Amino acid sequence: TDHYEKGLEKSRQSFGEKLNAFFAKFRTVDEDFFEELEDTLIQADVGYQVAMRISDELRNEAKLQKAKNKNDLKRVIVDKLIEIYQSSGNGEDNTMHFAPEGPTIILFVGVNGVGKTTTIGKLANLYHQQDKKVLLAAADTFRAGATEQLIEWANRDHVDIVTGAARVDPASVVFDAVKKAKNENYDILFVDTAGRLQNNVNLMQELAKMKRIITRELPQAPHEVLIVLDATTGQNAIQQAKLFKESTDVTGIVLTKLDGTAKGGIVLAIRDEMHLPVKWVGLGEKASDLRPFMPEEFVKGLYK
Ligand code: GDP
Repeated sequence: TDHYEKGLEKSRQSFGEKLNAFFAKFRTVDEDFFEELEDTLIQADVGYQVAMRISDELRNEAKLQKAKNKNDLKRVIVDKLIEIYQSSGNGEDNTMHFAPEGPTIILFVGVNGVGKTTTIGKLANLYHQQDKKVLLAAADTFRAGATEQLIEWANRDHVDIVTGAARVDPASVVFDAVKKAKNENYDILFVDTAGRLQNNVNLMQELAKMKRIITRELPQAPHEVLIVLDATTGQNAIQQAKLFKESTDVTGIVLTKLDGTAKGGIVLAIRDEMHLPVKWVGLGEKASDLRPFMPEEFVKGLYK
């Protein structure tokens, strides 16, 4: 909870203040109240559909006299936000999927700079601490410095890493890493991938090739394909997610840099639009700043 409160401070200031100002303004709960509530929620970046859903449900509650005054409605808003997150509308599961036996392989995709390498470093740290045997694969052989950056994390986390020479076929790094993970009984293999967007088609083909190679070696793998999105990019993040989702079977979302934005409500919009579970959120740069996504803590971090 501490992490959420600290990491969401900027969002809380913005979202919380907007809602508080809104509530201070209205004396009665009338149609104007609901219309302005919708605007306020949309401004807070929870997305159009979520804003409408909340205001519709509040209208009902007000009609049924369950919530008669402003303070009741304030409480109901928080409850609704939590509910929208918890009611995994699409049967989503926001926990990590592990192989019942043998190595679990998790592929990370997303454009450059969103925080893929950092997220892998943080997760490697977490699972290493849980006594898992963790292997990293530096399959972004394209971006200068990407491999070095992952090597740094591997050293810091005390986990092993497979790398390739600059510009070798990233699929060959993946191939070597999967073999090693199988032969040497690793519990988890995290694969970092390239994220250049200049050439979408090539990138998507490259990701598809990596996936084929993984599945050929281990039929149930990859066990997760996580798309990493930068919360500070707002609606852009949703566009990126759509692009990747069209060509890869993405299984979940990691939303990074929530500490750097006042638009934390974007999580609601992303989840609502993508029909994908948010599995992890990045709330800072340190290894301990990656947290599993917990709806209640999240909403309470946004507004309390
Ligand atoms: P990649 O290109 O997708 O691998 O992105 P990187 O892992 O290199 O991250 C890009 C920058 O974002 C780095 O400076 C990271 O330290 C920073 N970063 C990643 N996640 C977070 C986060 O949750 N919060 C903050 N504040 N910075 C982050």
